[in-house]
Amino acid sequence: MTEDELQQQFFEMLMESQYWSPSQLVAYQREQLEQLLRHARANVPFYENRLDSVFRPGGGIDWDRWHEIPIVTRTDMRDHRDAMLARNRPRGHGDYSTIESSGSTGLPIKISTNRLMMLATAAIRWRAQRWHGVDWSKTYTARGGFDPDALYPDGKQTGIWGPPWDAAARAGRSFTISRRFTSEETLEFLSRTATAYYSSVPKNVHTLALEAERLGIFASLESIFAHGEHVGADDKAAFRRVFGAACLEHYSSKEGGHMAHPCPDGPGLHVSAENLFLEIVDAEGAPCPVGVEGRVVITPFVSTIQPLIRYDQGDIAAFAPPCSCGRVLPLLKSISGRSMAIFTHPDGRAAARMLPDSAREALDATMWQIAQVGPLDFEIRYVPRDTARLGDEHQAEAAFREIFFDDAAVKMIRLPRIETTAAGKFLEYVNEWRPSQT
Ligand SMILES: [Zn+2]
Repeated sequence: MTEDELQQQFFEMLMESQYWSPSQLVAYQREQLEQLLRHARANVPFYENRLDSVFRPGGGIDWDRWHEIPIVTRTDMRDHRDAMLARNRPRGHGDYSTIESSGSTGLPIKISTNRLMMLATAAIRWRAQRWHGVDWSKTYTARGGFDPDALYPDGKQTGIWGPPWDAAARAGRSFTISRRFTSEETLEFLSRTATAYYSSVPKNVHTLALEAERLGIFASLESIFAHGEHVGADDKAAFRRVFGAACLEHYSSKEGGHMAHPCPDGPGLHVSAENLFLEIVDAEGAPCPVGVEGRVVITPFVSTIQPLIRYDQGDIAAFAPPCSCGRVLPLLKSISGRSMAIFTHPDGRAAARMLPDSAREALDATMWQIAQVGPLDFEIRYVPRDTARLGDEHQAEAAFREIFFDDAAVKMIRLPRIETTAAGKFLEYVNEWRPSQT
C-alpha cells in the first residue's frame, strides 16, 4: 500500500469512526494504547519501568490503573531526550524528523516525530476542514518560519493542500510566506493570490486586521485557520469585521499533532480521539469531572520514535458533556489557556489562571501580556486601542489581585505592540522570573 492509500484509508475510517458508539471508540483507543505501551516498554529506556503499574503479572493491561502512570513534563523532555527515543521502531511507521519547540516557559525541547504520525494528523485536519465546508480547490496561505525561499513578493508555492485523492483538491494551490513579510506586504500578497484561507497565530492575524484598517488596505478572506494560541472573541470579531472571515480554530501542537477542532454543529471542540488519548487532570493527576478545568495530558497513538505517554501539554481546558451532534468524539468546552505560564508566590502557592476579558475591556486594550518578573512582582503590558485615552488600570489591577495573589506588586505598562517569541508565538502569560516551572 502506498502512503497516499494508507492515508486515504485512515481518512475514510475517520469519517465513519466519528459516529461509532462510545464502547467501539474505547475499544479502538485501548487497542492503540496497548500497542504503544508494549512498544515503549520494550524499546524506550525512559519507559522501561515507568509503565509497571498498568502491566499485570500475566502481561495483560490493567486499565483501572492508567492514572498511576507518571505524567511526562517538558523538563523530562529536555533532561531525558536520549532515553526517550526508541531503539527499535515498529515497521511501517516511516522515517522520522526532529523539530524544536520553544514553548512558553523558555524551555526549548526537541521532539522527534515519525512519518505515520504526520500522515495521520493530516487526515485529522482534513476531516475538520470537511466538517466546515472548506474548499480545497481554493488558495491557502500559511505564514511561518524564515525560509529564504518564501520571501516577498512571491512567497513559496507548496502545491496542493487538500487530500491528494480528492479531485477538487488537485486544483488547489498553497503558499508559505516568511515571517519577514510586513503587514502591508502580507495584505497585498493575500489579495494578489486570491487567498481564501489564511493560517497563522490568531494574535498575528488580529494585528494584521488592525493594520489593514489603519492602512486602508482591503483583503477578503473566507476563513482564518488559527493555531498555536487561544482565539479570543475579540480576535474572531476582528477577523469578521476586517476580512469578512470566519475562524476555524486548530488545536494542535508539535507534540500532539492535530488534537481538536470545533464542532460544525455547536459550541466546543471535538477531540481527535482516533489519533490520541486526551485527558484533563487536576494538580494530583486525577481526572477532572466534566466542566472542571485542568491540565491537558496527551498520549498520541502512533508517535513511536519518541513515545509520549501521559505528556503534560501545558494547556488548560475542560470537557463539555457529550455533543448533541451525534459524534462520539469527546468535546472540549474550551481551551482557555495555551501553554499557560505558572505564576508563583514566595509562600509556595502556584497559579495557572486567566484574567477575565472584562479586565482587558477595562483597559481598552487590543492585546495584553501578563508577566511575572520577580518573586511577587508582575507586569500587565498592554496595547491601548486609543493611545489618547487611558483605560481603567485600577480595575485591571484589582482583577489581577483577585485572580492571582492579593499582595502582588502589579505594574501597568502601555506599549505600541507586544513582541512575539523567537518562534513567532504570542504569549499572553509569561513567567520571566522562574522560567522552568513545567
Ligand atoms: Zn459535535
